[in-house]
Amino acid sequence: MTDEHLPAPWTKPSASQEANGAAPAGNGASSDSPRHDEVQPVGNETLTRVVTAIVTIAPFVGLGLAAWQMWDGLLRTSDVIVFAIMYVLTGLGVTVGFHRLFTHRSFKTYPAVRAVLAVLGSAAIEGPVVSWVADHRKHHAYSDRLGDPHSPHVDHGNGLRGVLEGLAHAHVGWLFIHTQRGSHRRYAPDLMADPVVAWVDRTFLYWALAGLGAAFALGYAIGGSLRAGLTGLLWGGAVRMLVVHHVTYSINSLCHFFGRRPYKTGDESRNLAWLALPTFGEAWHNNHHAFPTSASHGFGWREPDISAVVIRVMTLFGLAWDVVRVPEERRQRKRAVQASA
Ligand SMILES: [Zn+2]
Ligand SMILES: [Zn+2]
Repeated sequence: MTDEHLPAPWTKPSASQEANGAAPAGNGASSDSPRHDEVQPVGNETLTRVVTAIVTIAPFVGLGLAAWQMWDGLLRTSDVIVFAIMYVLTGLGVTVGFHRLFTHRSFKTYPAVRAVLAVLGSAAIEGPVVSWVADHRKHHAYSDRLGDPHSPHVDHGNGLRGVLEGLAHAHVGWLFIHTQRGSHRRYAPDLMADPVVAWVDRTFLYWALAGLGAAFALGYAIGGSLRAGLTGLLWGGAVRMLVVHHVTYSINSLCHFFGRRPYKTGDESRNLAWLALPTFGEAWHNNHHAFPTSASHGFGWREPDISAVVIRVMTLFGLAWDVVRVPEERRQRKRAVQASA
């Protein structure tokens, strides 16, 4: 909301909202409530909830099996390698692909690279790319106000109970509640019009399954046995899905609750340093809300941002260009403006 490089109308749904951009978080202002056509209708709500429940609970079953396996001394190097490969690939698919490329257009690349990143992000099983992007753009448009699909601060009451309910909603509860999901037509028309991305979106289920198949194949290839394939599926599939999910979800919950706020963004976004490495840089979330289109969320070496390093390497190999950068003086100017405010 506060970036000069705002790319498209979905980041500013109305003039009244823009004027209210610096309003205190969690006020639930009704004057700039989301319009009906901004909310994505869900076809089969019960089925969607059941599938979401399976995808949410299955990794915990996997974790139980994995814990038992560790207890039994069965965890092998091949499992750790498969987990690491799958975690990095699907995690970067979400951070570099779904978030920085598709949602915020922080850089440009070839259609083939867009396809690869869309596929890797889909394999994280956080939903098809178009809905992921639509929800996230709506989150930026209404950050911590009524209309935000996953704010821990809106409509959860006061006291400890309100805090816990808010965090639970922002972390995972919002996936089961379909009242504030971003309309695809309103928030992601560019991706629906992109033949490559639209195709990966339509074939989401295959990529989700392919990610699990890849974990099995990697385990088999590295460990050399069917058993290694199955434990690879457990670690590189179920456990990886659990960890990627909850690390990603922590951005929505913890990074709107705990941490530092170097920039006044008019919302509750925060920088949570200890979460920066596992989230590949996404935990510099206050920086990100201050400069949403910036390819780097971490500013300077004190704020490690693996996704930004990946984009930089892609640039060196000619695989990324028109990378959006925020010069230091612009960051200083923003801090100076708020210091004098
Ligand atoms: Zn946020
Ligand atoms: Zn974002």
